[in-house]
Amino acid sequence: MRDILISDVVCATNGKVDGNSSNTDDYISNITTNSKECIKGSLFIAIRGGHNFVQEAVDNGAICCLVEKKVDVADENVTFIYTEDTVEAMLSLATFYRSLFNIPAVAITGSSGKTSTKDIVASVLGEQYNVLKTEGNFNNEIGVPMTIFNLRSDHEMLVIEMGMNHFGEIEKLVDVVKPDVAIITNIGVAHIEHLGSKEGILKAKLEITSGLKSKGTLIINKDDEMLGNIANEKKSEFEIMTFSKKSVADYKVKNVNIKGVEGITFDVENNGDTNSYQINYPGEFMVSNAVCAIICGDYFDIDQNKIIDGIKNFTLSKNRLERFYLKTGATVINDAYNASPDAMHSSITILDDINDKRKILVLGDMFELGEESAFMHKELGKFIATKKVDIVIFCGEMMKNAYSTYNSYSENQAYHLENIWEISHCLEEIDINKNDIILFKASNGMKFKEVINEIKVKM
Ligand code: ADP
Repeated sequence: MRDILISDVVCATNGKVDGNSSNTDDYISNITTNSKECIKGSLFIAIRGGHNFVQEAVDNGAICCLVEKKVDVADENVTFIYTEDTVEAMLSLATFYRSLFNIPAVAITGSSGKTSTKDIVASVLGEQYNVLKTEGNFNNEIGVPMTIFNLRSDHEMLVIEMGMNHFGEIEKLVDVVKPDVAIITNIGVAHIEHLGSKEGILKAKLEITSGLKSKGTLIINKDDEMLGNIANEKKSEFEIMTFSKKSVADYKVKNVNIKGVEGITFDVENNGDTNSYQINYPGEFMVSNAVCAIICGDYFDIDQNKIIDGIKNFTLSKNRLERFYLKTGATVINDAYNASPDAMHSSITILDDINDKRKILVLGDMFELGEESAFMHKELGKFIATKKVDIVIFCGEMMKNAYSTYNSYSENQAYHLENIWEISHCLEEIDINKNDIILFKASNGMKFKEVINEIKVKM
C-alpha cells in the first residue's frame, strides 16, 4: 500500500483520537484486521472479537488501532482511534484510500459466476495494464476494503468482485470502488432467504449502478430471465451493453462449440466485426463470463489479439472447475466451491456434452436456501433425473430430499451418504476407473475439498 498519515485515518473515519495523539503525524504502511499480520507501522482494525487481540497486534508492530471500545494495552506510544462501528469506518477509510488513485475500476456482482468473471476480466485487462483484482472471493464489506488497501502506485486498473446477502451491501461497496464498468452476471436464487424473491435479488444487485461513474457502463446478459428487461427500463439512467446468444444485443454470441471437458470455442459479433475465442475450461456458462471480459476489453480499448489471449490464458481461482486425473485414470472436475441451485444446474450441464465416459455426480448440500431448502433440493433431484448421468452420490442432510425425488424419477444407481468421509469408500465400491468422469459439487461448508484431497492421494 501507499503510506498514509494517521491523521488521514482519523479524518477519513471521523474517529476520536486517544493515547499519544502527537503521533498522528506518523505514517501507516500496512492495514490489517488480523493481529498476526501486523508488522512495524501497521494500522490494526479491531472487528468484533478482534478487540481481544489488540495487545498482540501492538506487540507485532501496530502503531495505531481502530477500535470501538477502550482496550488496555501496555504501550503508550500507540494511537487509538475510536469509532462506533469499525466495519463502517474501514469502508470509509477504503473510500479515502481509493480516492488517492486516479485509475479505472470494474465492479462485478451476480448470483453466480462472480469469481470466474473477475478472473477472466482481470486476465483480459492484465494483457495491457497492471491490474489489482480481488483475491479468491474476498468480496464482502471486509474483503473489498482489504483489496483496496493493496493498491499501489504502479497499479493501473482495479477489478473488484462484490458479494452480498442483504440489501444495502452492494451499495456500500460500490460507493468505495466507484467503478467505470459494472457487471451483473445473472440473477439466481442464491441468498434468497434474506432477499425474499428474485425481484428482491435483482433490486439488490442493481445497487451496483448507484456508484457507477458518470459515462460508466453496465454490462448485462440479455438471456437472463430477470436482467433481460433491464436494458430497456434503465437505458435513460446509464449506458448499458448487452450480450446474448438468442436475441438482438450489442454483442451477439454465435457458433458455441463445446469440446468436452477440454473447453469451448465461440464467436462474438459486435458492430459488424466477428472474432473467435477459445476458453480452456468446460461449462457453457463460462462463455457468458468471457463475453463480459470481451466487452470490458473493448471499453478500455484493449487490442483484440490481447483480448483473445486474455480469454485463452486465464486461470480460475481454486476449487472452481479444476480438472485433474486420478491414479485410476478417472477424470475429476472439482467444482466444489459454491453450490446454489443455479450453479448446480450449470455445473451438472457440463456433463451433457460428454458421451464416452461413465458419468458420476458427487453432490453435497446447498446452504443458505432458507425455508425453500428442502423444496429446492427436491427440485434438484428431479432435474438430475432429466440428465444422462450414470451414478449419483448425494451427501448431507438436505441431499436426502434430492436423493428421494431422484429415485422416484430415475432407476439409475444412486446413493445417499450422511457423512462426507464415506465418499471415498463409496467411489471404491463403484470401482472408478479411466472410463469415468466424476463431478464434485457442494456448498463450501460441506468441506468437499478435504475429501477431494484424500481421494487424490488414495485413488
Ligand atoms: P461466485 O463467485 O458468484 O460464487 P463462481 O465464479 O465461483 O461464482 O462460480 C461458482 C459456480 O457457479 C461455478 O462453478 C459454476 O457452476 C457456476 N457458474 C459460474 N458462472 C456462471 C454463470 N455465468 N451462470 C451460471 N452459473 C455459473
